Amino acid sequence: MKQYEAKVEERVLHFKQPAGTSRGVYTTRKIWLVTLSDGERSGVGECAPLPDLSCDVRPDYAEVLKGFCQSFCEKGEIDYEAMRDYPSMLFGLETAVLALHSPLTTHHSRLFDTAFSRGEVGIPINGLVWMGTFEEMQQRIEEKLEKGFHCVKLKIGAIDFDAELELVKQIRSRFSYHDVELRVDANGAFPYDEALYKLELLSQYALHSIEQPIKAGQWARMAELCRESPLPIALDEELIGVNDPETKRQMLNIIRPAYIILKPSLHGGMMGTREWIELARDMGIGSWITSALESNIGLNAIAQFCSSVYGDSITMPQGLGTGQLFTDNIPMPLEIRGEKIWYVEH
Ligand SMILES: [Mg+2]
Repeated sequence: MKQYEAKVEERVLHFKQPAGTSRGVYTTRKIWLVTLSDGERSGVGECAPLPDLSCDVRPDYAEVLKGFCQSFCEKGEIDYEAMRDYPSMLFGLETAVLALHSPLTTHHSRLFDTAFSRGEVGIPINGLVWMGTFEEMQQRIEEKLEKGFHCVKLKIGAIDFDAELELVKQIRSRFSYHDVELRVDANGAFPYDEALYKLELLSQYALHSIEQPIKAGQWARMAELCRESPLPIALDEELIGVNDPETKRQMLNIIRPAYIILKPSLHGGMMGTREWIELARDMGIGSWITSALESNIGLNAIAQFCSSVYGDSITMPQGLGTGQLFTDNIPMPLEIRGEKIWYVEH
């Protein structure tokens, strides 16, 4: 058996602009890079838990991660069942293993053999518009449309609802739903007793979907909204911490959302994400994949994984537009051209 060695190092990435999220404003981002080597080759993966959001954030994160790396070095394989509840660690280790074993390139960054990974096709992505004032958001939307995006995702729930509704109305008065697909993400901001009314108001503007209208953890209420809502509902935070396959099935079966949105760092690594997608597909529930503020190492792995899961001709825009966020990002052969992300080895 091969002799493996693992190294874990902590990195702090700096946002170009403070990133406003539902969990507050981030200026820096802490990640852990796992490097595996077998004496001849090496591969790097990124573990990027999100504070206050990931189910595997913990004070002894690096120690636990080192333990899993050690176990890989001893066994020569990932102990998937032991790592089920540690999705960000699993994702990083899965990436490092794929990079280590990639026979395809000297870059060690081509992780799958797909049309995307060979640089033959791009993956359509949505333009992400961060939270801000009405004027800021309006300007950011204009910029995305000018760049060629046909799918724009708006974070809502930050400014007041009437202003957000007005913003959506204005976009729709200029661009029909044939021209621009609008997705909104409420990050759980709507109080349950106002949610249906708000969904009805939003649905006047032919939106594609709304993410997480109410806070996670209220399955019966979310199920009711999914039944009653005129607007398709997508689950995101709801999936966090639901790591065991039987509970996943149960949750989807009760809530019956239109879509689930998968972030490998948060929702089970590649293994757990694949499981979610297959379970959802069996129930007629759609899905797409998004990044979660990883560096380009994670983003590269997510994009290639996405092409391996959904095939060579992805038409549903994915959430992979987070590559230009950091001043000190790690270079990877990823490029955004128009509304598509490409993997291009030079
Ligand atoms: Mg979301």
